[in-house]
Amino acid sequence: MMSSMPVKGKRFVCSECRKMVQIEYEGGVKMTQVGDMEVYRQMQLSEYFGTQSEPYLYDIGLCSQCYERSPYKKDEERIIEIIELIDRLYAERKRSLEEISALVEPKAIASVWEVESIKNILGERLETIFGDKHMAKSKRKRQVEDLLRRKRSDIANALIADAFRDGRVAEIVADYEVRIEENLRELERLLKEGEIVIKVKRTDEPENLNSYIVTQDTIRYPVEGSAKEYFFFEVELDSSQIFEDLKMNEESFSMEYTIDLKGIDEIIIGKLQL
Ligand SMILES: [Zn+2]
Repeated sequence: MMSSMPVKGKRFVCSECRKMVQIEYEGGVKMTQVGDMEVYRQMQLSEYFGTQSEPYLYDIGLCSQCYERSPYKKDEERIIEIIELIDRLYAERKRSLEEISALVEPKAIASVWEVESIKNILGERLETIFGDKHMAKSKRKRQVEDLLRRKRSDIANALIADAFRDGRVAEIVADYEVRIEENLRELERLLKEGEIVIKVKRTDEPENLNSYIVTQDTIRYPVEGSAKEYFFFEVELDSSQIFEDLKMNEESFSMEYTIDLKGIDEIIIGKLQL
């Protein structure tokens, strides 16, 4: 599948009144990385509008007039309350994650590892390498180095697991849980499964066009003097995903934080006396 497509601009279309606002991006037609699913969705949309050969993205929402008349308008205060609550919770989480990352010192953790823990991390293959009594020491070292290369994620996970056993990290986690407690209960009360909220976009603002990544190939900038209008988009909130994301544990930490493994191999090889 392709994840990039030629994009010259965007057409915001109102799903109610069919009003269309067309925006040109700086740089004219450029390959823009929107993601596989989005390329497919855009192909379907340009087929629907009968404009297959025109390099414009379609974005279907509600224009501001139709939004004013929509049921979302009446529910606006509650929706804003939900969005602000979620933003606050994610900000708290980010703050705690940063505090934890500042405490995680991979080399300090690995330097107190016992040979027994290293065996647990590297598994049976290590036993086999050491079990061969006739193997030359240099060969043994090479094989362990190769094993270490293949076990990057196990090593990183073990470092994070140990970091989370540190009393100071446990304190940050406990503090985070206390801080978010009240907001979390409030969110549970407000948020229904599959809740639809409204996301606002201004047509003349730069936009990251990929839902998963941000690079210079995914952000496009409308040209000076582009029409300035607001469009409103439905976004379905996956409440169980949000509650899952807000957890703070080894797994969620390792999803977001890349542990620095520099110097770790040397420490392990030293412990194994190779
Ligand atoms: Zn409209």
